[in-house]
Amino acid sequence: MSDRNQKQTVAYSSPDTDSGYRSNGRGGKDRKYSRSSGRKMPDRSARTAKLLLILIAVAVVGKTAAALLPSGADAGYLGSVTVPDWIDVQIIETDGASRRGENLSRLSDIVIHYVGNPGTTAQQNRDYFNSPESNVSSHFVIGLEGEIIQCIPLNEISSASNDRNRDTISIEVCHPDASGKFTDASYRSLVRLTAWLCGIGDLRSSNVIRHYDITGKLCPLYYVEHEDAWEQLKTDIARAI
Ligand SMILES: [Zn+2]
Repeated sequence: MSDRNQKQTVAYSSPDTDSGYRSNGRGGKDRKYSRSSGRKMPDRSARTAKLLLILIAVAVVGKTAAALLPSGADAGYLGSVTVPDWIDVQIIETDGASRRGENLSRLSDIVIHYVGNPGTTAQQNRDYFNSPESNVSSHFVIGLEGEIIQCIPLNEISSASNDRNRDTISIEVCHPDASGKFTDASYRSLVRLTAWLCGIGDLRSSNVIRHYDITGKLCPLYYVEHEDAWEQLKTDIARAI
């Protein structure tokens, strides 16, 4: 089940703009004189040497600044991923609630949910996300027949996983009854979709988590109550990656 964390305030820190070079490598006027002879070097050579030092300094400082950024800090690449044709793309309207139009800060994990409304279809759940009364959403909904609908662009946040919305992709799965157990068709699609997402995000099956693992909510219910089924799901995903 989706949960929008009302209290959430996501602070996006912009990259450190202090990435300009602090040292220009200049050593003062004395550098015009060679150490060995003390003779004055030609001005042109001195200028070339200074320019080289500046270029080296800029390269070093730039590389250091890039290394200091957290890995995966930019999830922008997800916006240019080609979605395979087995996914039915039906992006919902940006309304500031279900779809806030904010970018993922990074992609750390994939979060699995169940819809919590037995017998409903993927289309019904997607259409609910798109309705004015909804303030929840997930990136994907998987239906009882294994159909997969995408509701939120990969590089944007959904409103599903509380304070982990900012760095996760969410999948809601439909279920036929109150146990919350997925159909075989839903299960197969879930494994396929999750493995594909792990591939594009360079993630492993250990990066596949439940809503339960974030908040303790009993979601996805069957896979919280049956730890062995959850472990089997992750094993199946690992094989498919
Ligand atoms: Zn949930």
